[in-house]
Amino acid sequence: MQILCHCTDCQTVSGSAFYTAYIVPLESVTLTKGAPGGFSVKSDKGRDNRRRFCKDCGTRLWAELEMGFASVNGMALDDRSHFNPTHNHRLETAPGWCALNALLETLPITP
Ligand SMILES: [Zn+2]
Repeated sequence: MQILCHCTDCQTVSGSAFYTAYIVPLESVTLTKGAPGGFSVKSDKGRDNRRRFCKDCGTRLWAELEMGFASVNGMALDDRSHFNPTHNHRLETAPGWCALNALLETLPITP
């Protein structure tokens, strides 16, 4: 699934109104080289998430979500042309000035 997440944690991490994410099973995330940095945070819903980032440039690579999923940064991959969001997530915290794509569905679950 490819989403735009408007939660306040994603806003803080991205420095933007939303974060672009592939939501995938955590066990499917693999690296071809290097080792990410990481630290744990509480989401704005009180869940334990572990953020993974590049130790060379600080870019967020993915977050390990409590429910066994990873939220992979859609703009951190070499080929960004594959990212094509289908859902919005946590619209209740989207800023009022943020133009939302009305064609996207709202994700009914709360990762
Ligand atoms: Zn989020």
